[in-house]
Amino acid sequence: MTLHLYDTYSRSLRPFEPIAPGQAGLYACGPTVYDYAHIGNLRTYLFVDGLRRALEFNGLQVRHVMNITDVGHLTSDADCGDDKIEARSRRSGESAWDIAAAFTRAFEDDLRQLNILPPSVWCRATDHIAEQIAFIGDLEAKGYTYRTDDGIYFDTTRQDDYGKLARLKRDGLQAGKRVELGEKRDICDFALWKFSGVPGQRQMEWDSPWGLGFPGWHIECSAMAEKHLGAYFDIHCGGEDHVAVHHSNEIAQTQARHGTRLANFWLHGAFLKTQDAKMSKSSGDFLRLQSLLEQGVDPLAYRYLCLGAHYRSSLNFTDDALRAASSGLARLRSTVHGLGDEHGEADPAWLDRFAEQINDDLNFPRALAVAWDLLKSDLPDAMKKATMARFDAALGLGLLAWQPVQVEVPQPVQAWMAQRAIARAQRQWAEADRLRTLARAAGYDIDDTPQGQQARPL
Ligand code: AMP
Ligand code: ZN
Repeated sequence: MTLHLYDTYSRSLRPFEPIAPGQAGLYACGPTVYDYAHIGNLRTYLFVDGLRRALEFNGLQVRHVMNITDVGHLTSDADCGDDKIEARSRRSGESAWDIAAAFTRAFEDDLRQLNILPPSVWCRATDHIAEQIAFIGDLEAKGYTYRTDDGIYFDTTRQDDYGKLARLKRDGLQAGKRVELGEKRDICDFALWKFSGVPGQRQMEWDSPWGLGFPGWHIECSAMAEKHLGAYFDIHCGGEDHVAVHHSNEIAQTQARHGTRLANFWLHGAFLKTQDAKMSKSSGDFLRLQSLLEQGVDPLAYRYLCLGAHYRSSLNFTDDALRAASSGLARLRSTVHGLGDEHGEADPAWLDRFAEQINDDLNFPRALAVAWDLLKSDLPDAMKKATMARFDAALGLGLLAWQPVQVEVPQPVQAWMAQRAIARAQRQWAEADRLRTLARAAGYDIDDTPQGQQARPL
């Protein structure tokens, strides 16, 4: 089966045919660096990484571009709130530039911990001001802009198919429903350039043909995607919340400038939720990867957890699910480790079974199940190992590099493990759970692996 991807623009599963043979251009909207990324944001970057790895699994050379939004993302989608980074600077007293740099580093570190491949190109909005000004100038020359007291706006009423990506029905929209009207003539219009306002209030501002100010959030992605991938490239992706406003606006801008919809495919990942509520940075109530690490969770256990849900289904985060993922990963690692050192040939039939799943709109949950089936099969170990190495290039779990850590398990925990082995053999599950709880209270979790129980410090 060739790679099929669900394209939000056409609301259909389409075969992926690269624009240039053998290559794929991929743009993923990056983080707004006014705070740490939360594990919900990271779910989206894991989805993008899975997409990139699936493209590479299919032999394509991927040019992966990710932006860093370090200016212009306002606290309200109405284009009238405060700039998120400047607002944090006012609260904390640090410079806006230092805040952006520090949270960019923290984000890169999160990606490393999750085994997410670094993009081919990182691009910062503040490094592309000239490109954004040129873009807006072009839109102005074509008659797509108007000026208000606080900025230059894009006139969406010039486009009959504005909002097609989101299946937007303009007639039903009222101020306050989608975004506030603010200075705009139409509820869907959006800021391309905002004026600085009170002199000396902003740290990030630039001269432009329209006055001192800063770019809007949407223009940065159209301008940077075009610079690094061209005005029509293969795939643009992000979280599902981008469909209605950010991506609709990116398309509108590029449509106006070049007559293209920017990308051939538009892919969107569903949200991570906690207790069925959306996890969001602006609410301030969120979990970081670092918080999981502090609880003794391996970051790749979070990757394993995300692999278990399809990227278009929302995922409810619970401690139990994370614990199950930790022990699933531990079992997978030790099983692969137990295959020995000999490296044979990858088995083509198993590779096909795996490819069939990831090529079906990145069905990683089923691809992971194929990996487990392979390990349970009677294929010789050396072939299993070589085949798993190929699978893992797509799964990104670092399975072949993993080495067991020799831990000095304290005597009481060893005794509970011995009792637990007996309880399990007698199918006394409640007793086995009780002993595991005792071990946890003493700082060790117990994983049940094909080689028996293994204690892991929490
Ligand atoms: P931001 O840094 O807020 O611009 O968001 C970075 C990325 O994370 C975007 O692609 C968002 O769509 C995505 N995102 C935000 N919240 C969540 C969530 N709870 N689950 C999954 N992705 C999210
Ligand atoms: Zn974007």
